Amino acid sequence: MKSDDNPMHKAHAAPRCTATSKRTGEPCKAPAVKGWTVCRMHGARGGHTSGRSHPAWKHGMRAQEWIEMRKAINELVRMGPEH
Ligand SMILES: [Zn+2]
Repeated sequence: MKSDDNPMHKAHAAPRCTATSKRTGEPCKAPAVKGWTVCRMHGARGGHTSGRSHPAWKHGMRAQEWIEMRKAINELVRMGPEH
């Protein structure tokens, strides 16, 4: 039995940051933030890669926009072709 087959080894293999350190030129290897491919140092939670996986994603603004849009569409539909 090889030591690589140890299931505990896999359990500890957390996702690593895919970024490369500008200072050393080597892979960062820091633990990646959950839902991200990079660590906090390399942009996770930073903003420009935000999306559904963003832990602090706020959809209040967008939701409001959608409600307004749906209202407008509903009104158009209600008016129908007769008007
Ligand atoms: Zn990193």
